[in-house]
Amino acid sequence: MESIQSMKKLNAHFLMKNKSSRKQDSNRVADAGGRMPLKNGKIPVLLSDRGSVSSFIQENFDTIVFDCDGVLYRGSHLIPNMTETLTSLISSDKHVMFLTNNAGLSRLQLQQKLQRLFGQNCPISEEQIISSSYACANYMKEKEIQASQQHKWNNNSKQNINVYVVGTAGLCQELRNFGFNVLTYSDGDKYNMNRDELEEYNFFDFPPIDFVVCGLDTNFNYRKLCIVTNILDQQKDAEFLATNMDSFDLVGDSPAKKLPGNGSIVKAIEVSSQRKANNIGKPSAFLANFILKKHGNIRNPLRTLMVGDRLDTDIAFAKMGGMSSALVLTGVTTVDKIIEIDVEESMREPMPDIIFPHAGLMA
Ligand SMILES: [Mg+2]
Repeated sequence: MESIQSMKKLNAHFLMKNKSSRKQDSNRVADAGGRMPLKNGKIPVLLSDRGSVSSFIQENFDTIVFDCDGVLYRGSHLIPNMTETLTSLISSDKHVMFLTNNAGLSRLQLQQKLQRLFGQNCPISEEQIISSSYACANYMKEKEIQASQQHKWNNNSKQNINVYVVGTAGLCQELRNFGFNVLTYSDGDKYNMNRDELEEYNFFDFPPIDFVVCGLDTNFNYRKLCIVTNILDQQKDAEFLATNMDSFDLVGDSPAKKLPGNGSIVKAIEVSSQRKANNIGKPSAFLANFILKKHGNIRNPLRTLMVGDRLDTDIAFAKMGGMSSALVLTGVTTVDKIIEIDVEESMREPMPDIIFPHAGLMA
């Protein structure tokens, strides 16, 4: 868990960067008093203790959108005071939502997981949860409606939307819940493919595929890569979707180990198929529009705070939707990484509006 020392290190970095606003910035760590307006410049507001974080949240935001892994919990470990924080935010009439790029679980499975973690005193409904698998299903549904309105698909001939999935049973279930005909890998334990076998492989058994969806398949192998590559190659009308492009998650501490994310699998398929996936998860414009207009009933994006642990997904997503953003230091992004990115100023990864040590300080 990142400490106050880490926050001081960050503050020292931003002070050095912008000496002209030294006096103003030096007050940022000490106490925001809940009255500090969001800064429009590049330098994030740094808050280090519960009093300043919670009063800032209470004062400035109506809706809180939490990323899950690295924010609410890390692996199987809950962030300290997280249950109390959620209970307090909900009881003070904050609109609380959960938005995860994890496509491995259906929305119902995620709701059950969160409910197990936070207990019955902190009720969480399926409606509060948006996963990238659920977003992906909604994207395809929208496309289906658009296509039928444009008479691309004749209702008499188009009975099913066929989706080929590289991903988990949870992702397949979420898509089936929406009525899609889900096809997936069916070669059992086989994991390799040689030239002779591929030459004999019958791709004509596949029906016309409308979408190829890649979520995180932790059993991904060369044979699966070979099959999905050839489906994409032969079925040019199939739209290639990625539930997310996350590079990795961190596991454990000292040193943390990198667990490759879905982006690494999507990239493998992109290279072999020479087709580019459309990313539906954070930070996509589709998802930003979906949560703001259709699901969250959010009236004022600026009074909506996206709380995440990744700059390239969570914080970039907030910027995409015109929302405010907070980075916590319990996940992928370390203080050293923030400083490195900020020094580069390459705009590769956006800076958040606020940084605080962990989400359990929010109430
Ligand atoms: Mg995360």
